[in-house]
Amino acid sequence: MSAEPDGPEDRLRRFATIWSRAVFPVTSTSATRPEFEELLLPLARLLSEALRARSFDPDAGRTAGAALVEAHCTDPEALSRTLDCVDAYLVLYCGGDGDREDLRARSGRLQHAMAAGFAQALRERTLAEQEAIAQAALEAQGVVAQALHATEARFRAVFEGAAIGIGIADLEGNVLQVNGALRRMFGLSEQGLRGRKVKEWVHPDDAPQTWRLYDELVSGEREHYHLEKAFYRPDGTVLWTNLTVSLLRDADGDPQYQLALMEDTTERRLLNLRLRYEATHDALTGLPNRTFFFERLEKALGAGEGRRFGLCYLDLDGFKTVNDSLGHAAGDRLLVEVADRLQACATASGEMVARLGGDEFVALTTGPDTERTVDELAARIMNALLAPISVDGRELTVRGSIGIVEGPAGERSAAEVLRSADITMYRAKSAGGNRFELADPEADARAITRHGLTTALPTALDRGEFFIEYQPLVHLGDGSVRGAEALVRWLHPQHGVLSPDRFIPLAEHTGLIVPLGRWVLEQSVRQAREWRDRHGGEALGPLRINVNLSPCQLTHPGLVQDTVEILERTGVEPDALCLEVTESALIGADDDLLKPLRRLAEMGVDIALDDFGTGYSNLANLRRLPVSVLKLDRSFTQSMQQFPADPVDLKIVEGIVSLAHSLDLAVTVEGVETGAQAEQLRLLGCDTAQGWYYARPGPPDRLHELALVDATG
Ligand code: C2E
Ligand code: MG
Ligand code: MG
Repeated sequence: MSAEPDGPEDRLRRFATIWSRAVFPVTSTSATRPEFEELLLPLARLLSEALRARSFDPDAGRTAGAALVEAHCTDPEALSRTLDCVDAYLVLYCGGDGDREDLRARSGRLQHAMAAGFAQALRERTLAEQEAIAQAALEAQGVVAQALHATEARFRAVFEGAAIGIGIADLEGNVLQVNGALRRMFGLSEQGLRGRKVKEWVHPDDAPQTWRLYDELVSGEREHYHLEKAFYRPDGTVLWTNLTVSLLRDADGDPQYQLALMEDTTERRLLNLRLRYEATHDALTGLPNRTFFFERLEKALGAGEGRRFGLCYLDLDGFKTVNDSLGHAAGDRLLVEVADRLQACATASGEMVARLGGDEFVALTTGPDTERTVDELAARIMNALLAPISVDGRELTVRGSIGIVEGPAGERSAAEVLRSADITMYRAKSAGGNRFELADPEADARAITRHGLTTALPTALDRGEFFIEYQPLVHLGDGSVRGAEALVRWLHPQHGVLSPDRFIPLAEHTGLIVPLGRWVLEQSVRQAREWRDRHGGEALGPLRINVNLSPCQLTHPGLVQDTVEILERTGVEPDALCLEVTESALIGADDDLLKPLRRLAEMGVDIALDDFGTGYSNLANLRRLPVSVLKLDRSFTQSMQQFPADPVDLKIVEGIVSLAHSLDLAVTVEGVETGAQAEQLRLLGCDTAQGWYYARPGPPDRLHELALVDATG
């Protein structure tokens, strides 16, 4: 066969073939397999187009799910196989060259929408069928009555030919006759059924009114009734039916027989149970999901006087890094293990654990004494996370931050409680993580200001509320100032000066980081130019400027051009600029992401890997990245504060420095606060340092002074 690559149409067709092969065996269609494939092809196209559409709309999944029901794929297995197939092959065959991560997320949402569309179509169909059966029952009653009165032969034809089960019993409940459909439903012969007593068919799931309605009917007080009823089959399995029982009267109008019409709903019921399960449980961990949890929480909050609830909202610390560096499969295995451990923490009655999504979990406890039990629950959870989790032969340390909300039932809505728990969890996280915090209304209010900040951000740039402080970078060998890092601040009209940690994440979230980052770059490069003009040609070359880049700026298409333009406009050489990118932004980066950085590096701009050592990046990977500087994270410096410093930490830093140097990378250390630290780091071979020991971040002139003092001192 030729090795010619397939076009998109061939690949779409192949996906439809696989899909039809998987599902055809469990459909009740009269079409052949190839005909069935033709039926699926437009659905496959629909999904494929939705997958790649510019703006994503999961509704296509709904339509496809509903169309499956239309095509007689109502068996539960058909849905399950369809979802498996979409999960495994849609992105593969129809994804084109789009971003895999994004495509997989879309495929997941399409699957959810398909399941929802399927369930809804099935529900609508069931309702329509029930309607039709009720109608058929009434008609059959008329027909049967007529037939009884007219000829026995005609009656038998209706009776035996009916697609639904029909049985006739006398008013004492002795079964007189049953048709073929009913025998098949019970898996019994005519003999096996005839002569049985109706009242033998009591089932533990019978609705409370079942036998009262029956008694009313046989005593002539009621003409018919309709309900869902379960029966035991002789082999012990359960048959679920839609049952309609009618009273037949003789020509004089006296009650004579009872006529039962039943439709087998066992499969549909199983499917509904399964859909309900799937709609309320998380596919990865099997834990109850957000929907289920909300139902439970609402119930707990609606419980009567004197009842209380306690909630632990857990978010894993640094989970994104695990995902980015070890891959999603490893991340998934970690989540499954965490879920298992959490489940084991909440086994008492009134306790439950759920996964809200991503790496967020909740545990709920209810009862009269939740003030105590919720603390115990949180402690159990923290404890359960202590032992490392082994994934792919690596021992991963997992930590989490928990927000706790506790209180009486009946005061707040589920959404309010969850929001407060979420805010509290963030507080635990920003206090360093690996801890739990208790909700308090004041902290909640502060978090709400965070929301206020987000809305004030866009105008702040236009109003000139941002300014930049500069922190010198000092050469460890001779103590000379070599440059500075630009650190942005926001002078907020109400809140005063805000540090970047307060607003950079918000700016990243809203996309404002791109114009803000461009502004910082332009200002700082101008500043570098000014230093050069004032400082003139001193021996060590011009002062260099370090500017931080957010991950979103990396993926922004204008990065290279903006930078080039700014450098040209200000007349600053590219090698006077260093862009700092955090380690975590580059972990697992593919070539597309690295391309702009590579272009900048080729022009002579330095790229620094910021906060190095906080992620799980593979050191061997460094070679692949266009970086020329490592900025060792503050945590390494911190551990050198005590004397003597931890020998293991020293070894690690020494190892990193020598590896960096062998790769031709310079090493800068952050957070140097004491002379002892500076000396230690110099001995370990670090090149440049930054920290309060030399200077706090400050206005640009300060740097000038420092450099002068230095040059003369
Ligand atoms: P970073 O790039 O790692 O910056 C170093 C941070 O350490 C700065 O915090 C600095 O004030 C602080 N620092 C410096 N010396 C010492 C010391 O001796 N001890 C201690 N404890 N801290 C020290 P800052 O200014 O709050 O900035 C925080 C982070 O915000 C920065 O971390 C950087 O990631 C981000 N950031 C700052 N400006 C910008 C910007 O213009 N754009 C972007 N995207 N991010 C920025
Ligand atoms: Mg930095
Ligand atoms: Mg840093």
